[in-house]
Amino acid sequence: MTETSPVPPLVFMPPQSSRTEAPAPSATPLPPVSQKPISTQNPPDIKATKTPQFTLPKLRLEIRDLNHDGSDVFLSAVVASKALAESVRSVLSLLYRSPDSPTTTVPPTRSVTLILRPMDGVAYTTGSDLDSDHKEIHFSLDYINGIAASRKKEEIMGVLTHEMVHCYQYNAYGTCPGGLIEGIADWVRLNANLSPPHWKKEASGNWDAGYQHTGYFLQYLEDRFGAGTVRRMNEKLRIVRYEEKRFWTELIGRPVEQLWGDYAKAVGKEFKTEDDEGVLVEKEDASTPREAATSATKNELL
Ligand SMILES: [Zn+2]
Repeated sequence: MTETSPVPPLVFMPPQSSRTEAPAPSATPLPPVSQKPISTQNPPDIKATKTPQFTLPKLRLEIRDLNHDGSDVFLSAVVASKALAESVRSVLSLLYRSPDSPTTTVPPTRSVTLILRPMDGVAYTTGSDLDSDHKEIHFSLDYINGIAASRKKEEIMGVLTHEMVHCYQYNAYGTCPGGLIEGIADWVRLNANLSPPHWKKEASGNWDAGYQHTGYFLQYLEDRFGAGTVRRMNEKLRIVRYEEKRFWTELIGRPVEQLWGDYAKAVGKEFKTEDDEGVLVEKEDASTPREAATSATKNELL
């Protein structure tokens, strides 16, 4: 969960401190997966990133069981330093556009520690015990180990990006519905081109059922009311407490039930067209039981 008090921009860690974490050159031969130092701070790479130029928080990795098969999967599938940095950049550019944007306020997240450990479920994010500006993402080694070979990198990056949203999003002083919080997280994942193959638009049930169900609805709003709609929503969640009717009419000019009804019609039409054209719906990827796994962790997530 993100602290919601209005605050000045990010407080940066002194660059010197990152250098002290880099391992000293050593003659010890390392296996290929360890060629990248665990330290996730790499000033030259950070400088080389594209615009917009957000300053990254301190990024850390903690692997609690290197003997776990999931650790090898993780270290082989992604370069840890790049993976964490990339997920932060995706979140910041999608939710805040640029560091000096006058219309959005990046929260003061100072560090993010990715903790890989054996556990049930997929992943969750918390503030650290000491200070909620320091976040911890706990990611299950058991889950990572079960990802299909062909999807390892994409699924790891997708889950990481979803969790990174929780390190940077606002929650209306704790009053935002959990489904909207999770929907924004999956909207970012969707727009980072990391949606898994089993995701699909569907408009049954409630708008705030969360995850991709709400994420696709947010994308519909973004398409209909303009790029930046979700950014404005997040910024509003920084400032106000969530009162449903007021929130949506102030943001978009109509109540959310009406928008959900419009969305249902639009999705219905789209599916009808697809059926007519004989478009195949992609089958669920059996190796990524996200639905089952996420429902198990739903209560933990936020
Ligand atoms: Zn989540």
